Amino acid sequence: MKSPQEQKDIRDLSLEELRAELERMGERPFRASQIFDWLYKKRAAKFEDFTSLSKDLREKLASRFRIGALELADKRESSDGTTKFLFRLRDGEHIETVLIAARKRLTVCLSTQVGCKFACAFCASGLHGFKRNLAPSEITGQVLYLQHSLGLEPTNFVFMGMGEPLDNWANVEKALRIMNAPEGLGIAARRLTVSTAGFVDSFKRLAALDLQVNLSLSLHAVTDRLRDRLMPINRRFPLEEVVRAAEEYVHSGGRMITLEYIVIRGLNDSLDDADGLAAIARRLRAKVNLIAYSPVEGREFETPTEADVARFKRWLEERKVNTILRLSKGSDIAAACGQLAGRFKE
Ligand code: SF4
Repeated sequence: MKSPQEQKDIRDLSLEELRAELERMGERPFRASQIFDWLYKKRAAKFEDFTSLSKDLREKLASRFRIGALELADKRESSDGTTKFLFRLRDGEHIETVLIAARKRLTVCLSTQVGCKFACAFCASGLHGFKRNLAPSEITGQVLYLQHSLGLEPTNFVFMGMGEPLDNWANVEKALRIMNAPEGLGIAARRLTVSTAGFVDSFKRLAALDLQVNLSLSLHAVTDRLRDRLMPINRRFPLEEVVRAAEEYVHSGGRMITLEYIVIRGLNDSLDDADGLAAIARRLRAKVNLIAYSPVEGREFETPTEADVARFKRWLEERKVNTILRLSKGSDIAAACGQLAGRFKE
């Protein structure tokens, strides 16, 4: 029997990996679907509860694996219906998950890394550097906590929390497959959205994925000069290179992307910015999500007024760009990505 430290979380295995593991254990591979059913549908927390399996198999599983669960360290509820969860991981690190209720949707914003390497100037996640990638079980565990412990049924799942999902692609891809699999969480691919800060590879990876998940590109600036300053990843993947890769993705596979744009007062909200953003959106046939910048401790950008954002939105619409204004939610509970985990460390 492996010690608890050596035991792998069974939820780190995809269905295919679990089938292969069962074969190695001398068991019938079809049991993997039954095990997934107990883990993700019936949400059993102990192998001994897997009553459709033989006692012998339950004991074998318990000797090799553990069933991990995230531990809630803090929870903050905003007056606008946004809830932020801070989870403590087995190694003592912390991650955040945000639940946003709006327009008949219950959207979960999932973290994919502890911290982030990319240090975007408007984001709290990059402030404390990068610690490690999340395992698949730590990604799906955020959803399972909401479903299992709170009885909630989120409708949409966006990979836009702490971390750059494409920088932890192997684990994010596995989590996506487990979330989508009918034997797993059974979430339709169209309800899953992966965001990227502009990894050129991300478009190829998403195009090669046999799941029609949504892709969202965090743009936030339309010149290399400003994007270099706001998003250092732009020095590695300059704007035109990213837009060209996105264009190829859209035109070759007939897929859609969404552009995310945080409006920062006096920095990226001029008429020229609207012109540049509209030109990129038209090239990519993309809709634009505008988000008003929320103040982040340690960052010195200005929050736009409602009128500033409305004017920028109108400029885009006059340029025939489908634009949605996303409300900045949860500013009273530090809901901007990485803020709560950052505070917890201090
Ligand atoms: S915006 Fe995304 S990529 Fe940039 S620092 Fe924050 S988590 Fe990292």
